[in-house]
Amino acid sequence: MPDCDVVVIGSGPAGYAAAFRAAQLGGRVAMVERDTVGGVCLNRGCIPTKSLLEAAALLEQMQRADTFGLACDSPRADMAKLIERKNRHVAQLRGGVEQLAKGHGIDVIVGTAAIAARNKVRVETADGERTLTTRAIIIATGSEPQELAALPFDHDAVLSSTDLLELETLPASLLIVGGGYIGCEFATIFAGLGSKVTIVEMLGQLVPGQEARIAHTIQTSFKKRGVTLHLNTKVEKLDVAKGKATATLSSGEMVTADKVLVSVGRRLNSDGIGLETLGVKTDSGRIVVDEYLETNVSGIYAVGDVIGGWLLAHVGHHEGILAAENAIGSGATHTMDYRAVPAGIYTHPEIATVGLAQTQAKEAGRDVITGRFPFSATPKAVVADETAGFVQVVADAATRQLLGVQIVGPHATDLIAEAAVLVQMEARLDELGGTIHPHPTLSEALMEAALDALGRPLHTISRKK
Ligand SMILES: Cc1cc2nc3c(=O)[nH]c(=O)nc-3n(C[C@H](O)[C@H](O)[C@H](O)COP(=O)(O)OP(=O)(O)OC[C@H]3O[C@@H](n4cnc5c(N)ncnc54)[C@H](O)[C@@H]3O)c2cc1C
Repeated sequence: MPDCDVVVIGSGPAGYAAAFRAAQLGGRVAMVERDTVGGVCLNRGCIPTKSLLEAAALLEQMQRADTFGLACDSPRADMAKLIERKNRHVAQLRGGVEQLAKGHGIDVIVGTAAIAARNKVRVETADGERTLTTRAIIIATGSEPQELAALPFDHDAVLSSTDLLELETLPASLLIVGGGYIGCEFATIFAGLGSKVTIVEMLGQLVPGQEARIAHTIQTSFKKRGVTLHLNTKVEKLDVAKGKATATLSSGEMVTADKVLVSVGRRLNSDGIGLETLGVKTDSGRIVVDEYLETNVSGIYAVGDVIGGWLLAHVGHHEGILAAENAIGSGATHTMDYRAVPAGIYTHPEIATVGLAQTQAKEAGRDVITGRFPFSATPKAVVADETAGFVQVVADAATRQLLGVQIVGPHATDLIAEAAVLVQMEARLDELGGTIHPHPTLSEALMEAALDALGRPLHTISRKK
């Protein structure tokens, strides 16, 4: 009999979700982790960034206290304390995941794993090599910051997102190469804490892939906060001297900064884990899986960032659960449904989307109607002085089925959960618009956007008249 029913390689959100679900189903599970339990999300991604973001947002609130009729003299960031607080959050939540793993009876092995055969995983541990035999393998090895050959990390002046989360001194100036979601999130943190931030983005807008109207809202907000934007611009050259970096831009301009963050995407961890031994298919570093999350080799599944696609923790969770159910059950039966994936970008204001944007719906051949409602007409946003942004709904023109929702505005990443449920349940606009929403709340903007699409908003004049 093999040692395990399932060996999970990697303990990030995708890996630990797979391990927990396999254990819930009665499987004997080993989870191998070469670094710290919780993966990127818990240790170097979602959680540490949000800890710093909360502090940056509070500082910005304190700095504009007088607009609320409050006095708050000279608030400022103490970076060492912020990092200490962030480390506490990470340790607390990591401890939680470790306890859960213990509670599920999972054998957590610290070491580097590689697949040796279809039913065999070899683990290099501090105490030597260990071989695990198993019925199934779930690969959840995640991703790392992508390094550019022209702008290599020196981990001193030229940093990855992981390095930036450990800075104990606030840089006076920060140059961010790449205006995607990670770059924009760090710009929000460091501009909020008081650094002079410059973003250089190769494409014509920040947060590429988002609608121009959404990007415009974010760009306006960044400019108001003193962030300098260079769009349609590349960093041609980076020189580091005396602890400072000077970038030569394709526009001919030069930007000097104390620190540079290079955030140009993620490299997927599919090398060195034995895939070639068994002929597991990859495509540009991404492990190829079918709708059951099984690779081309039976009994070997892959989940999370390493299969490409969304690169989001909560998507990894769901993939992990599903792969475990397929691996433990009597053959692959469950398939992933990606129609209602909520995605958040933690800028100020936040961005969150689910389902289809208008252009995507049209590309998919759907005849759509849209509705929009601004936060400037939402009382809860008005009293919080957070009026930038809007909610937009996209629905099928004939059936009025909600196909997608885009939000840019306060607490967008929380508000999107309601929309995700509705898109997943194939709800119609009249069901959203006809649901009594509590007043005054930000959620009213969702209801109003649906009413706008139906041509009968309560608190704006319909554009459809
Ligand atoms: C700065 C930043 C902010 C982010 N913010 C968000 C956010 O707000 N919301 C969100 O949804 N997503 C966010 N993400 C993305 C999120 O962190 C990832 O999508 C998620 O962590 C992927 O989970 P995973 O389990 O696939 O892989 P990972 O979290 O990358 O975990 C993989 C694990 O596998 C281990 N491993 C790799 N190879 C081996 C091996 N051979 N043997 C043993 N162990 C191995 C690694 O050490 C790692 O611990 C953020 C990412 C970054 C970088």
